[in-house]
Amino acid sequence: MTAPAFPTGTILGYPRIGRRRELKRAVEAFWAGTIDADELEATAAELRSATRERLAAQGLDRTGSAIPESFSFYDQVLDAAVAVGAVPTRFARFLGDDGSVDLGAYFTIARGVGDDAPLEMTKWFDSNYHYLVPEIGPDTSFSLHAERILAEFAEAKAQGFLTRPVVVGPVTFLLLAKAADDAPEGFRPIDRLAELVPVYESLLAELARAGAAWVQLDEPALVSESIDEPRARVLESAAAAYDALGAQEERPAIFVAAPYGSLDDALPVLAATPVEAISLDLVRGSLPESLDPVTAEALAAKTLVAGVVDGHNIWRGDLADAFDRVTAVQRLSGSVAVSTSTSLLHVPHDVEDEQALDARLVSWLAFADQKVAQVATLARGLAEGRDAIAAELDEASAALADRSAAPGVRVPAVRDRLSALVGGDFDRGDYAARVAAQTELELPELPTTTIGSFPQTSDIRRARARLGKGELDSDGYAQLMREEIERVVRLQEEIGLDVLVHGEPERNDMVQYFAELLDGFAVTEHGWVQSYGSRCTRPSILWGDVSRSAPMTVEWSSYAQSLTEKPVKGMLTGPVTILAWSFVRDDQPLGDTARQVALALRDEIADLEQAGIKVIQVDEPALRELLPLKLADQPAYLDWSVGSFKLATAGAAAATQVHTHLCYSEFGVVIDAIKNLDADVTSIEAARSRMEVVDDLATSGFDHGIGPGVYDIHSPRVPSTAEVQALLERAVAEIPASRLWVNPDCGLKTRGYDETVASLENILEATRAVRAGL
Ligand code: GLN
Ligand code: ZN
Repeated sequence: MTAPAFPTGTILGYPRIGRRRELKRAVEAFWAGTIDADELEATAAELRSATRERLAAQGLDRTGSAIPESFSFYDQVLDAAVAVGAVPTRFARFLGDDGSVDLGAYFTIARGVGDDAPLEMTKWFDSNYHYLVPEIGPDTSFSLHAERILAEFAEAKAQGFLTRPVVVGPVTFLLLAKAADDAPEGFRPIDRLAELVPVYESLLAELARAGAAWVQLDEPALVSESIDEPRARVLESAAAAYDALGAQEERPAIFVAAPYGSLDDALPVLAATPVEAISLDLVRGSLPESLDPVTAEALAAKTLVAGVVDGHNIWRGDLADAFDRVTAVQRLSGSVAVSTSTSLLHVPHDVEDEQALDARLVSWLAFADQKVAQVATLARGLAEGRDAIAAELDEASAALADRSAAPGVRVPAVRDRLSALVGGDFDRGDYAARVAAQTELELPELPTTTIGSFPQTSDIRRARARLGKGELDSDGYAQLMREEIERVVRLQEEIGLDVLVHGEPERNDMVQYFAELLDGFAVTEHGWVQSYGSRCTRPSILWGDVSRSAPMTVEWSSYAQSLTEKPVKGMLTGPVTILAWSFVRDDQPLGDTARQVALALRDEIADLEQAGIKVIQVDEPALRELLPLKLADQPAYLDWSVGSFKLATAGAAAATQVHTHLCYSEFGVVIDAIKNLDADVTSIEAARSRMEVVDDLATSGFDHGIGPGVYDIHSPRVPSTAEVQALLERAVAEIPASRLWVNPDCGLKTRGYDETVASLENILEATRAVRAGL
């Protein structure tokens, strides 16, 4: 087929939650039953319509397939599962007679109902977005349900737009799926590719009939080497799928988007298929250094979509350099377009909304709308020549120069301290000597503790809201927090826990709390990004050199310690997690930034010790999250991430017991990293996997303290004493009792008090029973 022209400027996707989280509110109102499906549909249609108008106003072509239809009520992977009819049979009773999925059924699959668990949720590549994991078995029947995709395209058309439908591609869809529970051993979802592709063929045919000129199929799995499937199989699948889809007569032109890194060996594979356009992530990845002649010739006949505007971070960046990268792509093909490197899903809507942010900082930033404008500028440069956009390029360069020279971005004292570090600063010394020194804590065998937070009650939230509005002064607020801490300490004493916590009532969020207190960070007002479903986070902006101007947690921890004879655990968020859940400066290596944060935490630990705190936990739940998708990049990452944790903690005295906490269920490649953290005690999520991690750690030679979680805090269910006892007995069989701790999987902040108290009481009772049998 002769492809219709690809737009010179486009984006891979746009935030869908709404500038003021309108979609979140409407979806949650629908769940609560306060609005009906029609009202929710109406809100969603308004948001989509406003998005299209906005994108056109920012410079994307209204009728040139430049505007992606990337809306979702919950998740794009769930949308794909629904579109191909791959809904697990436990939800069959919620579907229409023809297998159709209405809004009620859609959210039921996303959130579960009664004993029918929802689809599992996991991280989307190396972003903080989480998708729902499709379940595919040998018997999963695929059938096309394209109503929504077609309706949104038609809705745009009626509004005067020719947009570009976006669907997760078949290869990524199956690679991200998990084998259904009843699938035989060895079955892989990708085994079903040949049966899935025809459904995509029908989808393409329907889109062509509806008048779509281009369709975007997202295939990020092709850039990731961390996919649990041999690479050869991944490449074979891509070839098979796109040969078949490309061979189809009746279809729109196909644009394969491959964000989050270089395609590497998948590029020749895609080049050899009939697809008309391929995206190249030139922010995270780079242009291939050399191409074989066959690939070079094939690519020259396709549109190459240069992803040069960072879709994953909030910096305005170097626009002139981006333009140079676009023109470099012109050496490969005569047809080049400008795009974002990824969907803009990962950034907030509009920096203009941030009235309270420092104007100078604002001038260095680009949120989604500003990035769209950057794309439009670069596209204009491509069409009209560099001179046409010289003013915009110069302005961006000036902002960049201003940023690098601005006070706070490079603070000599911070840099001097960093460059004076020596190997010993990263090393706590002999573990056995630490164990000996820590006997003064006089802990029983199988010590019991919690992960830090206690339930965040509405009273606590209300107090923080009143403080924010100025209805409560900081003394009044501190008084309320102290009362809460006292309640939590007394409760833990009553339950009989051994190492207490203060409960973290003062924290809005485990990263933002520190970001607000550290120099080098800024906090936004409306900078929400979707984490999953209706859940959004508001990442802080780490823009400058990080330092600590005053203690951050000492007041709360030492108050808690003053109330009890039992040790109270100080509670800090680790450097890797602080980076992972913030927007981080892009003008220096992440490792340097992590070490700056680590030094600030190191000072905090010293102050906690001074204040009489003998146990200190440094949480690193995001250690695995930042793991690079390319295997070759992983060792360097593990080196700086583990190093920054050690730098934060290595100043602690031998007698101070350092804990860390990690929570995710697949440890795999990070198991050695966990060992290398050299924390005295590591508490880790384990309840849902029935303590599997205990085996993994035991075989890896891990020989420090370990607290595998015995209570799944993700659910309101109270584990019975017998259940906890069984888990503990499993653990004791594997790990010497002298090194075993007893704790929940994670913090209790999202739980209610009733279930928290009941669960902790059962945990204590189970622990006493297991101790008695030792
Ligand atoms: N200390 C934190 C808490 O208990 C840890 C949270 C986490 O691991 N995500 O809330
Ligand atoms: Zn956790």
